[in-house]
Amino acid sequence: MTDLPARRLLLVHAHPDDESINNGATMAKYAAEGALVTLVTCTLGEEGEVIPPELAHLAADREDRLGAHRIGELAAAMSELGVTDHRFLGGPGRFRDSGMMGLEQNDREGAFWHTPVDDAAAYLVEVIREVRPQVLVTYDPYGGYGHPDHIQAHRVAMRGAALAAEPAFRPGLGAPHTIGKIYWNRVPRSVAEEGFARLRAAGADFPGVAAIEDIPGVIDDAEISAAIDGAPYRERKAAAMRAHATQIAVDGPFFALSNDLGQPIFAAEYYQLVHGTSGAPAGERENDLFAGVAGAVQGDGVNGANSVNGANG
Ligand SMILES: [Zn+2]
Repeated sequence: MTDLPARRLLLVHAHPDDESINNGATMAKYAAEGALVTLVTCTLGEEGEVIPPELAHLAADREDRLGAHRIGELAAAMSELGVTDHRFLGGPGRFRDSGMMGLEQNDREGAFWHTPVDDAAAYLVEVIREVRPQVLVTYDPYGGYGHPDHIQAHRVAMRGAALAAEPAFRPGLGAPHTIGKIYWNRVPRSVAEEGFARLRAAGADFPGVAAIEDIPGVIDDAEISAAIDGAPYRERKAAAMRAHATQIAVDGPFFALSNDLGQPIFAAEYYQLVHGTSGAPAGERENDLFAGVAGAVQGDGVNGANSVNGANG
């Protein structure tokens, strides 16, 4: 990629489906605007529970073929979002899903959680130095809700960003690159509360309703730095979530994971800026993750959009 689009966004996630639930509208928006949106998924999600009974045979405790199936689900979801650059960290299957915290799978050879952070981060450095993102999105240090792969994805993303900027680190992986802005995925408490009120009022068809504590990354509204209005991309986000059919059951504006607890689909997506300078006036939220980034003007990406597909070899 010698002729990169003007705006470049990198997202680092643990499993296929996390990107659509957390950032589906954001990814669709920036892809539609001609930005380069690069998704790095760290595992295939082999340990996920399977919702549709007819696919239950794929699960890790039966045929253990879920990982390969989820590669297809992720590709279908990315096509719904218009995102063409999606990769698995170190290639598909390099790191295995570690399962929920406390399971013996956590410490299995090859499990993502069991891998030294710097070993995994080197694969991300290679991607960062290639696509040279101005903005990185990942989880908070708790991984949103404590899943080992989410915590590890956070660590690898933050470490990868630091190492990519170090000229002395593995020069063979490409020229050093400093990412200007780093965000963590967040949900403002008021938005979570309002979403659950809507869910209860609608009486959606799930056996139960999740609690605010079940929503990853909920924090006080004052901690939110940026809000992306995803309303125009609500349907694309829902379609991307539906593409992850082994993991997500979508019912109108609501969805459930394998725990069968209904949750609202959030069309607006929220972020906490943890590195770099806000492009919004003091005390206000940004409405663009590229706000204040030099040269990253909306529309500049239009010419560059074609180059992603290899127009420059
Ligand atoms: Zn996950």
